[in-house]
Amino acid sequence: MGKEDEKMKKILMLNCGSSSIKYRLFDSAFREILSGKVERIGEKESEIVHSKGSRVYRAKVKSNNHKEAIALMIRMLHDKEWGGIRNVAEISVIGHRAVHGGQMAKTSLVSGAALDYLKSFEMLAPLHNPHNIEGMKEMKKAMPNVPQVMIFDTAFHQTMPRKAYMYGLPYSFFDKYAVRRYGFHGTSHKYVSLRAAEMLRMKKPNLITCHLGAGSSITAIKDGKSIDTSMGMTPLEGVMMGTRTGDIDPSIVQYLVNKYGFGYDDLFDIMNNKSGLLGISGTSKDIRIIEGKAKKGNERCELALEMFSYRVSKYIGAYAVALGRVDAIVFTAGIGENSPSMRKRICSNLGIIGARLDPRKNTKAIGKEADVSAKGSKIRILVIPTDEELMMAKEAAAAIGK
Ligand code: ADP
Repeated sequence: MGKEDEKMKKILMLNCGSSSIKYRLFDSAFREILSGKVERIGEKESEIVHSKGSRVYRAKVKSNNHKEAIALMIRMLHDKEWGGIRNVAEISVIGHRAVHGGQMAKTSLVSGAALDYLKSFEMLAPLHNPHNIEGMKEMKKAMPNVPQVMIFDTAFHQTMPRKAYMYGLPYSFFDKYAVRRYGFHGTSHKYVSLRAAEMLRMKKPNLITCHLGAGSSITAIKDGKSIDTSMGMTPLEGVMMGTRTGDIDPSIVQYLVNKYGFGYDDLFDIMNNKSGLLGISGTSKDIRIIEGKAKKGNERCELALEMFSYRVSKYIGAYAVALGRVDAIVFTAGIGENSPSMRKRICSNLGIIGARLDPRKNTKAIGKEADVSAKGSKIRILVIPTDEELMMAKEAAAAIGK
């Protein structure tokens, strides 16, 4: 293949979830060519939403399993009108999202050994790892000659020092059972930290990045590296989230099991899927709905917002101590990017560390990059929309040396 052909090569990103696959094709300059998702896989009726440029194709489809969804995606990639490749040789690398990568610090080639390692963490990410693995296996069958890599949500946090990732359990639990903090949303925290460095015109600023979405996590970044993060061995730890509890006293579990007869699995289902903003508000996990009802005087919705913002601001305070000096606080993901009122609530507690919001700039910053700090604020406050697939595409290209 000539140099010109090499330049035309494309990068395919794939994110396989429990009932959906999302894909995005980039050119060699990391510009998006197309993107799409197949949703409700395995249900009576699935749906494909596929975008190329400003045009969108939507159709009801039959997709019994991930294999069929992937076959559909491959047909779309080749489609004359909607596709972006004529043959698979045009793809230089396929990057797969892998949620729990254990202690893997680097993007890895999809191989038997790497898949086995990923499988060993299935129990800790039951909604993600099995489907990530399935997607990798299917793509290996469909495109055996294209290099494929897995990019871990946990990888960015492998730079945490021992004092941050160890739990206060017997040391042997770490040795024998790999019990430690791993952290998640690594690709997002990394992406916004690189963008923040550009916005601040600083090489390696000290940052506190707040990924506030359906799942939420806060990370302390020093010299470009994660030194602490709020999610733990699993995504359940840390700040309160859409449906997850965040930090709770583990004895609550023992108490509810022994005194009230709850089953462990039921309790963990409640702690993962029925708690947090949803559990407290009793209304929704979606901050837009909760904010709407709180405005109309719903007390439980107001409480949910107070708890969420209080807990986020406490983590920011803790990480300011961990970092010693903070150049900027970054807000990203669904809530962080789009809810000025939640940013206002969180920042109203941050005067003690010298972070002050400009209310007008904050109100205007919805879904776009902005510096929303007040004049004279000691710490800059930035809003940066995340782009995990773009970050993964760059990681995938770097992994194969392109
Ligand atoms: P994920 O990618 O983890 O599914 P997102 O980062 O998209 O989650 O975040 C989803 C959450 O973000 C929603 O539940 C909602 O609370 C919030 N959100 C999304 N869009 C908006 C918006 N326009 N205004 C306020 N909040 C929003």
